[in-house]
Amino acid sequence: MNRLLSIFYPRKCPYCSRLLKYDMTECLICRAEFPNVPRIEALPTGEICIAPFTYSGAIRRAICDYKFRGKKFNCYSFAGAVVSSIRNVYYKDMGFEIITCVPMSKDRRRERGFNQSELIARYTAEQLNKPFENLLCRDSGAALQHEMTYEERISGNDNSYHIITPENVRGKKILLIDDIMTTGMTLSRCSAVLKSYGAERVFCASVAISKEYDSHNNIQSGS
Ligand SMILES: [Zn+2]
Repeated sequence: MNRLLSIFYPRKCPYCSRLLKYDMTECLICRAEFPNVPRIEALPTGEICIAPFTYSGAIRRAICDYKFRGKKFNCYSFAGAVVSSIRNVYYKDMGFEIITCVPMSKDRRRERGFNQSELIARYTAEQLNKPFENLLCRDSGAALQHEMTYEERISGNDNSYHIITPENVRGKKILLIDDIMTTGMTLSRCSAVLKSYGAERVFCASVAISKEYDSHNNIQSGS
């Protein structure tokens, strides 16, 4: 962690841009504002997704900086927040054997240069001392979720997710990570594919849950 962190210099707090020292991943002022209790939401297929944040304000800016403006360093703070949520909620079930992520199609990956969920999942795995593996892939040409309406995402059939290594899924407890949960359908579909190949349990986590999800599920959330 420290060795990798040292690649990024000077380091700035992802949420307020203050300069950071040593191996800090966010400033103490912003860290003090992190919620102590993570969000816990049920997915359409019954799995639970936990998330430290709601996708708004400084969190939203930090995630956009990470995904679209090259601020990959922010990923350490996101992974750290996901890890503390995992320790809070999944503590007794921490028998994950593999940590994986929602996949990105090859075309999309080429366009963006990296899979934002994969990097978060890799650092989460590093901090939890568990193996990371890309277990799923996604067809190129599959519809882009963010270009669809909420209703289209919920109702559409999407068979574009597939298993890469079935032998590493059977009988395993898997932690599946995404960056932002918008409807829960992406995590549900990926969980369903993992379970169809015999995964014993799938736990889900994301960095943030969208306000869209909240308004469609009548959840009051702060801004
Ligand atoms: Zn800060």
